[in-house]
Amino acid sequence: MPSGRVYLVGAGPGDPGLLTARALALIATADTILYDRLIPTAALDGARPGAELLYVGKEGGGASVPQEQTEALLVERAQAGRTVVRLKGGDPFVFGRGGEEALALRGAGITFEIVPGVTAGVAALAYAGIPVTHRGLARACAFVTGRTGDESELDWAALASFPNTLVFYMGVGRLAQISAALIEAGRAPDEPAAVVEAGTLPTQRTVRGTLQTIAERVSEEHVGSPSITVVGPVAELADELAWVAARPLAGLTVAVTRARAQASGLAESLRELGAEVVQAPAIRIEPIAGPPLDPAAYDLICVTSQNAVGALFERLAAGGRDARALAGARIASIGPGTDRGLRAHGIVADVTAERSIGEGMVEALADVPVTRALIARARGGRDVLPDALRSRGAQVDVLDLYESVAEPLAAGTVAAVEAADYVTFTSSSTVRNLLGAIGRPSPHTRVVSIGPITSQTLREHNVAVDVEASEHDVDGVLRALVADATARAR
Ligand code: SAH
Repeated sequence: MPSGRVYLVGAGPGDPGLLTARALALIATADTILYDRLIPTAALDGARPGAELLYVGKEGGGASVPQEQTEALLVERAQAGRTVVRLKGGDPFVFGRGGEEALALRGAGITFEIVPGVTAGVAALAYAGIPVTHRGLARACAFVTGRTGDESELDWAALASFPNTLVFYMGVGRLAQISAALIEAGRAPDEPAAVVEAGTLPTQRTVRGTLQTIAERVSEEHVGSPSITVVGPVAELADELAWVAARPLAGLTVAVTRARAQASGLAESLRELGAEVVQAPAIRIEPIAGPPLDPAAYDLICVTSQNAVGALFERLAAGGRDARALAGARIASIGPGTDRGLRAHGIVADVTAERSIGEGMVEALADVPVTRALIARARGGRDVLPDALRSRGAQVDVLDLYESVAEPLAAGTVAAVEAADYVTFTSSSTVRNLLGAIGRPSPHTRVVSIGPITSQTLREHNVAVDVEASEHDVDGVLRALVADATARAR
């Protein structure tokens, strides 16, 4: 068997928006992904279903998976013909042991490719408003490891006399020794310094001081790992150039229970608001196979969800039809997402339910004449709408186009959901399936529901609803969550 290829890929410093296009493309196609601790939590969201995801991270500098074992795994999976992505925080060649892994691969005769990433020493500082070079202030920049055990190997005299920016990776815990060694070797004690913790992440913090004071400041503020330390006049620019605005959900973790294919919009908006997102796709949307659809006989077609839109057009296409086949019927849609989905197919709904539930559709259709209706929906949907139309004398066909199937969650995901500050439920099926996977949410986790039907399902499962959206769509969920978090922060 020809051996597979290994990609040594940088995942950037933490903000998923700083993953490169190349990294995302490779993650999406890899058979095996070996990943570290400091990769963005969202980086693996785009992995293909069934990909083998192996954690080979190191905690606090100590190896949880020894380096040799990681290298052996890379070689072994590649020799088995798999496409392997080795995903590392920041850049693979900057304090990332990417060079060592590349040498091991070359030694084993395996083809590899290096995909550079955005390195923390530049990016965490940039997010704090600190440029590593600056005309008049810094013409050069040194990347230095502050790792325990390495400082005897550092040439402190050279670093002290290096006339420009010093950037220390790792070793925030050894800052006192590092700054003392620099001062002793002749660096000015009053030189500006800064430490950026969790740079580019929602919890990013900057602590400012001088070479003399920075270690004490860092211990006062309980700054932890991962942090980057910068020494040099550029550090002072943070006072003027800090630009990352305080975000309403900063520091909060929110679990999203939608199917992966639908979760991305909600997850992305939550991240933009500063939240850390845990994707717990307890359900998967599975289309239900069926015969091609000929809609000619219907004078009303009700589309009850965004998923139903895609499935409906697939059934039309199966019979060689497209949107024109719907020209003879009125189209009714439930919810803004469904509306948008229809518009993407060139259809503007004649009737839209103001309330995103079946009762809303019944009200909206009160004055619309109906002889024969088609209801395009999920299997197991509620019968409020078909019953109401039938009671008006209409002939109603219910077409189950897809179903939500429970998806098992990884142990790590379950633990992350249990630790989350909020868990969001966007349909009754997300409730049933998530509770099936994790049991009840932790008592400290606030439960957010998209609307009354989902809330009712939660209560039927003895889960109290802390927040219910007043608009029953993704934006409504976001607004309700932000309002709750803001009120509680006061
Ligand atoms: N290859 C990585 C560095 C790995 S060494 C890169 O190019 O960025 C790990 C160190 O990187 C951490 O101890 C910390 O100093 C730094 N680091 C990584 N992510 C960081 C972040 N989001 N904010 C601050 N420092 C970070």
